[in-house]
Amino acid sequence: MEKLPFERPVIKKLKAGMPGKFGMKTGVAPVTHIDQVAVSDLIAEHGSPLFVISENTLRRTFREAKRAFETRYPKVRFAWSYKTNYLNAVCNVFHQEGSWAEVVSGFEYEKALALGVEGQHIIFNGPDKSYDDLIRAIENRSLIHIDHFDEMYMLHEISVKTGSKPRVAIRVNMDTGVYPMWDRFGFNYENGEAWDAINRIMTSGKLELTGLHTHIGTYMLSADAYRIAASKLAELAEGLVRRYGKTIDYIDIGGGFASKNTLKGAYYAGTDTAPDFDDYAEAISSAIVNSQISPDNMPLLILETGRALVDDAGYLLGTVIANKRLSDGRRATILDTGVNLLFTSFWYEHQINPAQPVSDHTEETTIYGPLCMNIDVIREASVMPLLKKGDNVVISRIGAYNMTQWMQFITTRPRVVMIDAENKIHVIREKEKLETINSLERVPEHLKKFKL
Ligand SMILES: *Cc1c(COP(=O)(O)O)cnc(C)c1O
Repeated sequence: MEKLPFERPVIKKLKAGMPGKFGMKTGVAPVTHIDQVAVSDLIAEHGSPLFVISENTLRRTFREAKRAFETRYPKVRFAWSYKTNYLNAVCNVFHQEGSWAEVVSGFEYEKALALGVEGQHIIFNGPDKSYDDLIRAIENRSLIHIDHFDEMYMLHEISVKTGSKPRVAIRVNMDTGVYPMWDRFGFNYENGEAWDAINRIMTSGKLELTGLHTHIGTYMLSADAYRIAASKLAELAEGLVRRYGKTIDYIDIGGGFASKNTLKGAYYAGTDTAPDFDDYAEAISSAIVNSQISPDNMPLLILETGRALVDDAGYLLGTVIANKRLSDGRRATILDTGVNLLFTSFWYEHQINPAQPVSDHTEETTIYGPLCMNIDVIREASVMPLLKKGDNVVISRIGAYNMTQWMQFITTRPRVVMIDAENKIHVIREKEKLETINSLERVPEHLKKFKL
């Protein structure tokens, strides 16, 4: 008898959620309203897909965060991270709540100015600040957070040329026990580079060192990482007093607090694992108040929280285009919203709810977007009630990064509406049309005509 070829053993996943003899209660309850507004009315009036932002949730979340810090630390200021969501209406909600602006490009800087944020309330971060960007930021007395030595030398040069003394902070990166370390931005703490940067600023006398900044990463599930970060910045601040008699105005601890979204591959839901604002505030404030910084000179604490403030306030509404079976029998549902609008579906298991009452039966379903592109998957496998063509869905917690990283690919971007405190609906960004896109294009004369 011939020996059979070896086949390695495989473990096959049991498919949960198949309807049994008596059906199965669906765990996915319909979401029929956002605030007090019916989802069906929103789609009837504004089309599908549709982004919806709840002003109430924005303000409530902001106030929770502010309370968590202000009850623990004497001087606190938030600066809204523009890249997280820079729709003007969203920025203005945060500015009305007292947030400064935190920007990472010349474009975002202009956006903040255009909204009426005064230069001295704009924090200019990031590795890409042009010579002209810096000149403008210096003239406006903005807070320039230096990312690398080349930027520092450019600032020296401008200072010599113009006789101005730019207000600067250095961005510091450090080991906080969370890996991989974000060491590509700013000056490293452990290898002495941060001190090298500080010493150059202090000995040159060309720049006014107003603060110390760090941004240790994003979606940080460890509040303790912030305790370490805050104590390292506090140590630099103490060192500045000892060595130069220099008291800085502020410590900026950056953003990165986790939202309640569930990361792909996570065992537990984000709602159960993400620290809340109190946890982060406790870690950060205790590190600073228990440092050697003199109680008479406590620095202002700045926070650049982005996703944790805006994720919950954003919804994406969509419609089922079709259902089909994949070759292995798996159920597939195709929506009119794909990764073009939901960039974060590469990282998160987004919560998708039907927007109308549904059957009690559920089945493991792959949720696709409408693009002609294989990677257009919103959920690989989600136990979903059986949705029909034309049914609407509500995708929750999508307020962060999607309305800035969305792609104009294959189709145009849809409307964005905001529901205000009185449940009134405001269009805050129009749907793009063919003319919107074509208005930027130019066709050379010799390419204008053709005959088929
Ligand atoms: C992106 C960014 C933020 C906001 O980060 P979140 O993770 O959204 O809180 C804050 N500060 C800087 C410097 C950033 O680049």
